[in-house]
Amino acid sequence: MSKRYLYIETYGCQMNEYDSDRIRTALDMEATDDPQKADVVIINTCAIREKADQKALSSLGKFKHLKSRKPNVLVGVAGCVAQLYGDKLLDKVPHLDFVLGPRAIPRVSQLISQVENSRRRSIETSFDIEEVFEVEPYHEEGKVTGFVSIQQGCNKMCTYCIVPYVRGKEINRPIHHILREAKNLVRKGVKEITLIGQTVNSWKMDGYKFGDLLKMMADIEGLIRIRFTTSYPRDVTKKMIESIKGTREICHHIHLPVQSGSNSVLTTMKRTYTREWYIDTLNRLRDSIPDMAISTDIIIGFPAETEEDFDDTMKLLDEVQFDSAFSFKYSPRPGTPAAQLADQVPSHVATGRLAELQEFQREITSKKNLRRVGQIEEVLIEGESKNDRNWLSGRTTHNRIVNIPGTNDLRGKIIRASITEGFQNSLRGVLIENI
Ligand code: SAM
Repeated sequence: MSKRYLYIETYGCQMNEYDSDRIRTALDMEATDDPQKADVVIINTCAIREKADQKALSSLGKFKHLKSRKPNVLVGVAGCVAQLYGDKLLDKVPHLDFVLGPRAIPRVSQLISQVENSRRRSIETSFDIEEVFEVEPYHEEGKVTGFVSIQQGCNKMCTYCIVPYVRGKEINRPIHHILREAKNLVRKGVKEITLIGQTVNSWKMDGYKFGDLLKMMADIEGLIRIRFTTSYPRDVTKKMIESIKGTREICHHIHLPVQSGSNSVLTTMKRTYTREWYIDTLNRLRDSIPDMAISTDIIIGFPAETEEDFDDTMKLLDEVQFDSAFSFKYSPRPGTPAAQLADQVPSHVATGRLAELQEFQREITSKKNLRRVGQIEEVLIEGESKNDRNWLSGRTTHNRIVNIPGTNDLRGKIIRASITEGFQNSLRGVLIENI
């Protein structure tokens, strides 16, 4: 049988990158970067904000001409937008052949055969799929870092968030699956694994908690670094902190979305913690692990956010001094409770506040990066820098990108670098020694 080619375009987070790699394994086709060469085209979408969702939909439009020139090419939409709009997408996009929800990835091959055999467009968005963790992602040879999903869906029901509606309730992955996939990656040369889940630290299974899993991961021979994302503030336990503190392989960085510094906004968001509780959690982390790097997510312009609420968020940024922050303008999502709230903040007000907050955080991040100048950092070299082949790029335990001059034989090694310059998003240094 002749080779068949798959073209996938991915939008959104790491979870979607991971899912695209799973689709690649499930279909067992040759990947191509050229849609003109493809037998199957899949757009893997994100629905977290309206912009992401529209971007993905408009990208589908690009394949109209391809489909009319090559009618045998199958065009599909996968991911959260597929789940959100379901068969409405088939009505709206005449050149679309199939719709695949994020939980249904293990069924993608069946779905495509069904479309090809019946010559009818088809949809698979069931949540009730037992083999949900069965398909492991395709792994590109030579990569130093990899992801392992430990959880699907989310149980938290934050009022702004579409995730529980499009990815379903939380399902935790069995421990032997997680360790098997992690060991496979290490066998292929991976040195650093990031455990991923919507609220990764709420993982528990068969009497084991997230802190236990971290320690078991650290026992994998050849795995030198472990990261995890995204953590939920209420699920940062004493055991988890002790595991990070007591296990050399676990990186000293946590991504802990706070979303807002105002208690009234946090209550309407149903985040289940207060500003004081969040700060106390960071204090517990920093008391145990003084160099712990902390990054966060913030939503600006949530319904009824006043100037005072916004000011509370700015004060929180000042007090906490996050190493970095992702901040977003609130985007009402269909079917979520917050989208029904009457008091939506005018767009121009939210845009102004967001710009102010981002400028303030940029200053904090730059100041923190500049403070690393003159220090010695341990860096795991991931490969050549994207912009210049004479430079190597890697990360510190605190998740800071470091670029050093050097050659690719250092890829996959931990080196000591002396930091010479600090920028907004990265550091620059020189090699001291290979360890
Ligand atoms: N499950 C994680 C959590 O909320 O803790 C991450 C979910 S999401 C992929 C990443 C970030 O997008 C969230 O932390 C939040 O800041 C942002 N986000 C989620 N829903 C949003 C919305 N409706 N409007 C704007 N930002 C949103």
